[in-house]
Amino acid sequence: MALMINDDCIACNACPSVCPNEAITEDEPIFTIHPQRCSECIGETGEPQCKEVCPVDCIEPNPDYQETPEQLQAKYDRLHR
Ligand code: SF4
Ligand code: SF4
Repeated sequence: MALMINDDCIACNACPSVCPNEAITEDEPIFTIHPQRCSECIGETGEPQCKEVCPVDCIEPNPDYQETPEQLQAKYDRLHR
């Protein structure tokens, strides 16, 4: 399941640089996770790095992108081949 950023985002800019898939972009007023690029960090650390650095805990599962770990790994592999 891809993650998404909710309206509590304070646009602190901490998360884009820790994403291994370049899935996060700076938008106004809040940042955006592009679901086609978010693997929940499967393929790298396996722990969502954006959630680790977010000071306001505003990153949550995206209900529109229900994916298995295998699908997330395949997404990661497509992005990094
Ligand atoms: S969970 Fe990982 S891949 Fe997804 S947006 Fe956050 S840092 Fe990027
Ligand atoms: S770390 Fe959290 S508050 Fe900061 S830009 Fe990313 S989602 Fe927004």
